[in-house]
Order: sequence, then structure tokens, then C-alpha cells
Amino acid sequence: MSDYWQGKAAVVTGAARGQGASIARMLLQQGAHVYAMDWLGAADPAWAALRAAAGEHAAKLSCLELDVSAPESWDTLAQQITAAAEPLLGLVNNAGITGPRNTVTKASLQEWERVLRVNLTGAFLGINRLAPLMPKGASIVNISSTVGMTGYYSAAYSTSKWALRGLSKSASIELAAAGIRVNCVCPGVVDTEMIRSNAALYQALQSIIPMQQMASADQIAEVLLFLLGPTSSYVTGADIAVDGGVTSGGTYWPIGRSLGVV
Ligand code: NAD
Repeated sequence: MSDYWQGKAAVVTGAARGQGASIARMLLQQGAHVYAMDWLGAADPAWAALRAAAGEHAAKLSCLELDVSAPESWDTLAQQITAAAEPLLGLVNNAGITGPRNTVTKASLQEWERVLRVNLTGAFLGINRLAPLMPKGASIVNISSTVGMTGYYSAAYSTSKWALRGLSKSASIELAAAGIRVNCVCPGVVDTEMIRSNAALYQALQSIIPMQQMASADQIAEVLLFLLGPTSSYVTGADIAVDGGVTSGGTYWPIGRSLGVV
């Protein structure tokens, strides 16, 4: 294990559970001070599970019950980071919601605005408020989705994930001169509460994955750890699918299967 993260700080949003909790735990294990931001209430068992997973590193875990879509949340966080005076080397804009997954003509304006506000504006605010605090060598990763690379019926969610890729590219251009990298990770189907909460969808999603299994949250977090750290020092403005082959083969894999070819 390198000592790269010792004495350094990182912010992870949506960190109480799922993929956010995985990358928070991995960063803690690497020695980072992790600001874990999530809007779940303090009594939610996810927070206790995250603290337990932090184990001997729990003293370096700051749990912050904050909504990413509220500008004040980021102001509060920026003040804490400035006061702590540790270099902020990582930001993972991971918090996301699906909303009711309605199509364009069925989605309400309220659903549209809520999903975009959390998934897209939350990441914008994170970069807008924290990038000025980040030193050369820092890395920002935004969590998009394979549905930010392909068409998907859930209009607000898919649009928010496509837009996150645009935001990442704009930020990567602006921040390159400061030595700050910005990338997008596009997970495919990840076995977390986000899809477990919809049993029919959970079942149907199994049929589009050439690798024939969903990702674990840790499998996504391993890629995040690479993108946050120095071994990816020349990677910026990239969209990296971590999807078991969904975007490359998700259309023809089920067809090949039905024809008995693969
Ligand atoms: P999850 O629902 O388990 O985790 C999302 C976390 O974000 C939760 O802890 C939730 O409380 C938090 N959150 C939501 N809105 C917030 C807000 N406004 N402020 C602060 N925290 C907020 O799901 P997950 O799979 O771990 O999702 C992580 C990211 O990965 C999301 O952006 C999601 O869209 C994306 N993603 C998930 C999948 C999948 O199959 N699970 C696939 C592609 C992309």
C-alpha cells in the first residue's frame, strides 16, 4: 500500500451506502480523511454500517448529513475542509436518485427537476465549491451510468447521466491547467439498494450483461480508487464504462444467446 493518501482528504457524496460507502471505506483504508456526505438521517442504519466498516480508521471518517443539491451544504463542507487544512485530493460526486423512472411524456416537471437537481446540480455544486480548494494532483470523479451512454426510457435519470458527462468534460478542460483531473465512471448494473428496491427491474437487468453477473459496489470502487490516485495521472476528461460488457455488447449479446451463437 502506498502512503499517497496519508494526511490527505477526500470527499465522497452518497457515501452512507452502496458504491459511495465502498469507495469511502477503501479511501479510509488507504489512510485518507474521508468526508462522507449523505442526506440519510443520522439514525439510518447505513451510517452505523459505514462507521463499522471503517473499523480502526473510524477517527478519520467525518459523517455529514447533507443534501448535495443544497448550495449551503457545500459551503458548510468547504469551511470544514479549509479549517482542517489537509490537502483535498479527491472528490467523488456519487450521490444519485432514480426518481420514479417515468418516460418523457409521463414524467412530471417535479420529477424532472428533482432528479436533475440531485444528480447533476449536486455534482456541479461540488466542483464549483471544492475545486478552488484542491491542489495540483487532485482528482474528481463523477458517477454517470451506462444509461448516460445509451438510450433509456427513464427520461430524467438518463438525461442527468448524459449531462454529467458534459459537465465532466467542461470541468476537465478548465481544471487541467491547475493539475486537477476530472473523469466520469459509468457503472452498468450494480447490486445496490438503487436497483434492489425494484424487483422486476432487478430481474430484467440480468438479461443485458454479457459477463452474466451484476457488479458489486466494490468492483466499481476499485476503478474509482485508481482514478482518484496518482497511477492515473494522465487520465482526464474520460468516460470509463465499468459494466461487464453492457455498452459494448448489451444489444447483440441477448440476440446471440437467443440464436444459440454465444
Ligand atoms: P444507492 O441508492 O445505494 O446509493 C445512493 C446514495 O446517494 C444513498 O446513500 C443516498 O442516500 C444518497 N443520496 C441520494 N440523494 C442524495 C442527496 N441529495 N444528497 C446526499 N446524498 C444523497 O445506489 P448506488 O448504486 O450506490 O448509487 C451510486 C451512484 O451510482 C448513483 O449516482 C447512481 O445513479 C449510480 N449508478 C448506479 C447504478 C446501479 O445499478 N446501482 C448503475 C449506474 C449508475
